[in-house]
Amino acid sequence: MTRADTLLTNAYVVTMDDDFRLFPDGALAVRDGEILAVGRGEDLAREFEADETVDCGGKVLIPGLINAHTHAPMTLLRGLADDRRLDVWLLGYMMPVEREFVTPEFCRLGTLLACAEMIRGGTTCFADMYYFEDTVAEAVAEVGMRGVLGQTVLKFPSPDAESYEDSLAAAREFIYRWRGHKLIVPSVAPHAPYTCTAEILRDCTDLAVEFDVPLHIHISETAQEVEEWRKTYDMPVIPWVKKQGLFEAKVLAAHCVHIDEGEIHTLQHAGAGVSHNPSSNLKIASGFAPVRQMLNEGIHLGLGTDGPASNNDLDMFEEMRLASFEAKAVSGDPTAVPARETLSMATRLGAKALHIDHLVGSLETGKRADLTLIDLATVHASPHFEYDPQGIYSRLVYAAKSSDVTDVMVDGSWLLKAGELQTIETDSLLSQAKEYAQEISDFIVEREDSVVSKLVAIGGAEQEESYEVQVKIRLADPSPVVEILDSGSMQVMRSVHYREYDTYFTFEDPQQGRLRYREDEFVDKAGEVYNVRYRLTLIGPAAEREFAQSVLLSRSRFIAPATHSERFYREYFAPADEFNIHKDRLRWLVNFLDEEFFINIDQLLTPQIDGHFLEIKARTWSRRDAEEKAEKILDLLEALGLEGAEEVKQEYPDLVYEAPA
Ligand SMILES: [Zn+2]
Repeated sequence: MTRADTLLTNAYVVTMDDDFRLFPDGALAVRDGEILAVGRGEDLAREFEADETVDCGGKVLIPGLINAHTHAPMTLLRGLADDRRLDVWLLGYMMPVEREFVTPEFCRLGTLLACAEMIRGGTTCFADMYYFEDTVAEAVAEVGMRGVLGQTVLKFPSPDAESYEDSLAAAREFIYRWRGHKLIVPSVAPHAPYTCTAEILRDCTDLAVEFDVPLHIHISETAQEVEEWRKTYDMPVIPWVKKQGLFEAKVLAAHCVHIDEGEIHTLQHAGAGVSHNPSSNLKIASGFAPVRQMLNEGIHLGLGTDGPASNNDLDMFEEMRLASFEAKAVSGDPTAVPARETLSMATRLGAKALHIDHLVGSLETGKRADLTLIDLATVHASPHFEYDPQGIYSRLVYAAKSSDVTDVMVDGSWLLKAGELQTIETDSLLSQAKEYAQEISDFIVEREDSVVSKLVAIGGAEQEESYEVQVKIRLADPSPVVEILDSGSMQVMRSVHYREYDTYFTFEDPQQGRLRYREDEFVDKAGEVYNVRYRLTLIGPAAEREFAQSVLLSRSRFIAPATHSERFYREYFAPADEFNIHKDRLRWLVNFLDEEFFINIDQLLTPQIDGHFLEIKARTWSRRDAEEKAEKILDLLEALGLEGAEEVKQEYPDLVYEAPA
């Protein structure tokens, strides 16, 4: 007799080995965290004497499920801002909240909760990408789960690094500390090509190669990403990352939704792993990954939940079901991605995708004892048909629920026994999570209250307090003024022709000001657009003071380059109302009596108003300066032949001050 630590008997063993062997009256022996043998119950009973014998009562024993892509600590952000577009969700909510709240304590708590959820659902191993990954690893090791854990590297500051150099240094330290650990495989995680640079990708590749660890990255998640790549580099994302040498490393690429045949081939050739994340792709409407094509090409295609903020759970049974159904629906072929192949993705192929198939992914001698017991004697998974042994896969993938998992072992240790978590106590974790949720809630409420803080939250708004002198006059025919300006009698420093497309967002409380999204199209002499500029300005309410002919305004402005679309700002700021003003504008900057003035001649396109508006404008940052300019405006009007012209302030009071009635 051979000694074993644990002998599991009376189980339906689904090995997921190379031959997909099934043992309906099966058993499995474990010693020192390793699978000693798997086979028929009567054979193992003769061969092994165990310290602990567990009668599995006819339950199904499968290799522990492998979640190939997640961001575990984000359990604490679950449900924070659902039903929004990816950019609004990520840039408007996740990243600002992460900047404010993500600390080692946050990551520890979030990871422990994620582990509890995953273990309950039969997951024994996961690939992670987040901040403070060292803390994540400590929590995972403490719980006793297995993880391929990636320290994130980004081109901009993140919660755990001020610069990319810092995050790369942290990744190196992290890998150095954890390599060789029995449960943790450290990795480096350049977030995505669009959040990194070519240099960052090369440095991360070098690091992964140096320590022979996986490199975890998001690739081609959205059509927009690929479109931008084609526009900028004249090629899709995968050939580009290949050019940067990325595939010298053992790559785990998350998503790969928008990839073509050639790219699939490249991935296959490189031996790269891919994580398919059906829930996340469906929820964010990223599209349908070419799952059947990838499997046909022999890609190591695992299944991932993605982070619990975009899913919103870590349930691999749900991912299996969706992966299979989605592939069938999209290909119009119900034979596509059958149940056994789907379970492969969640086990043996997932292990290959994570580059750890020498350790886990199937129940066979020599592999680590990571396994999951499932009770299929439930109402929702009954009956079953003996005639087809393959039916076990359809029961597991199409009928079983994560709540049917009763026992989970990782590396020979029980993490879940008869439905009870063995290494995590969730009550206190949940009450801590509740406290975080309250703090985050308060933060959002306060921020949502103020347009300024929402603007600041999405980055880079500069405030300026400015004074403006304005006079507005309606002109039936602007040509006499244009003649004077072009005659050389006045010192013109600059002149330009452009079209201004302004969208104003207004808010219930007028004290919030107005947010202006402006697109300027600069037009050359031939009438062609030669440059486009986008700007976002939050214009505070103005304090006014009347002069003889002009008005002095003072107000605060927050100016930010508009790096997102108008649609993004509309969804993010959710204005109470909006209106458009489009103008064709001729602008001169003149020096008059040692003061600089802008002279604009506008033709209003939206709303359409006949005639032209002349505007003289000077903006300064000091009140006294502004008052001096206001005094000189009468003289300037005279020089332009406009003495006695009537101001339009009465006629179109709001329009000239940037809003129609
Ligand atoms: Zn992700």
